[in-house]
Amino acid sequence: RVEARPGNVEYYHALMMFTKVDKSKGLQEKFQVAMRSMAKHGRFLEGEVLVLHFVSDEASREMGERMLPQLLLDAAFQYEVVFHDVTSLTEKLFPIVEAMQKHFSAGAGAYYSDAIFFLSVAMHRIMPADLKRIVQLDLDLKYRSNVRDLFQEFNHFPPGAVIGIAREMQPVYRHTFWQYRKENPGTRVGEPPPEGQPGFNSGVMLLDLEAMRDSTLYNRLLESGRVAGLAQQYHFQGHLGDQDFFSMIGMEHPELFSPLPCGWNRQLCTWWREHGYGDVFQLYYHCPGPVHIYHGNCNTPIPHD
Ligand code: UDP
Ligand code: MN
Repeated sequence: RVEARPGNVEYYHALMMFTKVDKSKGLQEKFQVAMRSMAKHGRFLEGEVLVLHFVSDEASREMGERMLPQLLLDAAFQYEVVFHDVTSLTEKLFPIVEAMQKHFSAGAGAYYSDAIFFLSVAMHRIMPADLKRIVQLDLDLKYRSNVRDLFQEFNHFPPGAVIGIAREMQPVYRHTFWQYRKENPGTRVGEPPPEGQPGFNSGVMLLDLEAMRDSTLYNRLLESGRVAGLAQQYHFQGHLGDQDFFSMIGMEHPELFSPLPCGWNRQLCTWWREHGYGDVFQLYYHCPGPVHIYHGNCNTPIPHD
């Protein structure tokens, strides 16, 4: 008698924000490009499963459930889909991130609904403890490599690092930190690579949830007093959510972050080139090496290979 042996299944977790998708044709098109290219280049071993997590409202979830089977038709790997309700995640997040919201959100107040833009910051407190690693991905991406290879970057984290993230490829933090830079001539804060600290982009992130839970330093930085202190020290006022938080704490504690090669989040937005930073733009925008993922940020069209 032959018995079915389940064997050891290995799960690869990826999460995407997926809200108001039913209301935006543009977002639907980005979603299609992302999922089709992920399916096209994705390869996993036998016994491995890619788990796609979507944070959605009800209408977006219905649209996602309807579109995904078609988009992943060519996938030569096993996958599962999990939808998370944006309202219940927001409820859990708000008390943790409320204090930091005013430093990293647009507008004056800390709006309840903006808490979800800080999901990555406190994901380790929200998700079940048996979830140890997850990658968070934007929808405006086009994959040119196997997404499984991205997960291998977890194995290159230096000791003490809790998040893998690529640098920001525009001089946006040169701008945000202007006052600190004026008061601290010669600082690396906001300077271009390879010597400077240009800040981070949150379009592709590796969250080592286990390391985030275990890091005393990281969890201290979530305390409201610490965030306020650093924001004051750096004269920081941003509006880009999690990416601003990571960029600011990364200036003080770069060892918390494992630098992801720029080819894993090749941002295409050139907005700051035409808004006062044309002279230094290329120093930030330049990304040598292979492009694994294009990021069409600020609605920038992605080249057809
Ligand atoms: N997003 C969403 N609904 C929206 C707007 C954004 O779910 O109405 C998600 C989506 O995953 C998107 C991410 O939030 O990729 C970040 O937004 P976007 O990529 O437009 O920002 P950018 O990269 O241009 O700064
Ligand atoms: Mn994006």
